[in-house]
Amino acid sequence: MTKFCPLVSGSSGNSIFIKTEGTKILIDAGVSGRKIQECLKSIGEDCSQIDAVFITHEHTDHIKAAGILSRRFDIPLYATEGTWNAMAPLIGDVSRKNRRIIYSGEKTQLNDMVLKPFGIPHDAAEPVGYSIFSDGIKMTVATDIGHVDDTIKEAVSDSDVLLLEANHDIEMLKRGPYPYNLKQRILGLYGHMANNIAGDLIKDVFSGRMRHVFLGHLSAENNTPQLAYHTVCGILSQGNISIGSDIHIELAQRHCPSHAVEF
Ligand SMILES: [Zn+2]
Ligand SMILES: [Zn+2]
Repeated sequence: MTKFCPLVSGSSGNSIFIKTEGTKILIDAGVSGRKIQECLKSIGEDCSQIDAVFITHEHTDHIKAAGILSRRFDIPLYATEGTWNAMAPLIGDVSRKNRRIIYSGEKTQLNDMVLKPFGIPHDAAEPVGYSIFSDGIKMTVATDIGHVDDTIKEAVSDSDVLLLEANHDIEMLKRGPYPYNLKQRILGLYGHMANNIAGDLIKDVFSGRMRHVFLGHLSAENNTPQLAYHTVCGILSQGNISIGSDIHIELAQRHCPSHAVEF
């Protein structure tokens, strides 16, 4: 059985649990160690059983508990070299054997899982998203994306399950309380993905194989779950993609595990 379960998702912190027959991993660990342990326990899993944590990039909402979990449970951390250099001073000591390097575009095998990191346009050292392959299933985590390029399109295409960023509503962000510079950063080429861009991307790559999409990494200030959902579903409906029968669109929960997708 393969299982994909976002544990927490949002600018407040991100972590996704993925399990196959022989492997259990997290993508990111961006809330406290205690919170991740609680989330795993609530879905019947134990942190001591996690085989690896794969990191997307060094921003706090992705690495907050990375060092803690590695030390507490002797878990290897995987990240690109650029991400390692940037996050090493932030996460405390990690034993040499648990510092693993991955390369964007190159597949890594972990037991019965194959992971392919792909470069993402975001204002971090060497950020990546991940496609995870196991038993004919493709699962993709794509958040913190400033703009859509061919690499992103290829990575999300033909995913059976996808966690895609729907960070903000552009008008809400422009009218909202953030200072001008921060607004420009989020809207920029290396910022975050807006609801309508997420909708357009799903519509563009939709092939019938993509059955489950979680919208995640929502901004607490510049978006609402309803707005993200209705914007994306509206765009898909315009493309004659039927919500609920062709594709399931769900919001990844901010503070607790979402409904898991199982194969
Ligand atoms: Zn980020
Ligand atoms: Zn983030």
